[in-house]
Amino acid sequence: MIIHNLGLNDSILNQFVAEIRDVGIQTDRMRFRRNIERIGEIMAYEISKTLKYQIVDIRTPLGIQPVSVPCNSIVIASILRAGLPFHQGFLSYFDRADNAFISASRKYNDDHSAFTIETGYLSSPSVAGKTLIIADPMLATGSSLELAFQLLSKNGEPSRIHVACVIASKQGIETATQIFPAKITTVWAGAVDPELNDKAYIVPGLGDAGDLSFGGKI
Ligand code: URA
Repeated sequence: MIIHNLGLNDSILNQFVAEIRDVGIQTDRMRFRRNIERIGEIMAYEISKTLKYQIVDIRTPLGIQPVSVPCNSIVIASILRAGLPFHQGFLSYFDRADNAFISASRKYNDDHSAFTIETGYLSSPSVAGKTLIIADPMLATGSSLELAFQLLSKNGEPSRIHVACVIASKQGIETATQIFPAKITTVWAGAVDPELNDKAYIVPGLGDAGDLSFGGKI
């Protein structure tokens, strides 16, 4: 499995990651969502370099120009609800992609010391033979990612898998290496953080990406 931690290289991506982490800036929900979206756009650009290309002749008003364009069938899959702004970033660049959505949420026990993942809604095209991008902004334990992949796999076997995260924990990346077929999978992270707290939030992380994007929940 190939793992890219894009935060290790100096680029504007680090500015966006810094802003979504910053308690003084993340209260601006619109900026938070847009920064997540921008990180999705940057990752889409990086992933685009790994796609297959074919030459097509483009007719301009003054002549014909051969251009090399990507020809993969792409499915972008996201876990609701935190994945939505990230998903939009990928879809802005891969605007011809099909889309899959999975609802998965943590159900904590009474003292919040443990949780299980509850899945509900699934809407997905066939992923057989396609390039599957799973956009999971916060890869913490990897348990919702695992369930999402199990559900998506019922709709066929993709030819390539890209797991895209804004922030991943070391543990989450370790889990991803166990879940996904190594030969066809690449993990992309905007940053990799060292640990999880006792509620399985990434530390230092940024907090709850869904709440910061859309507001609190019961
Ligand atoms: N989901 C989040 O939003 N944040 C984390 O740190 C972990 C999971």
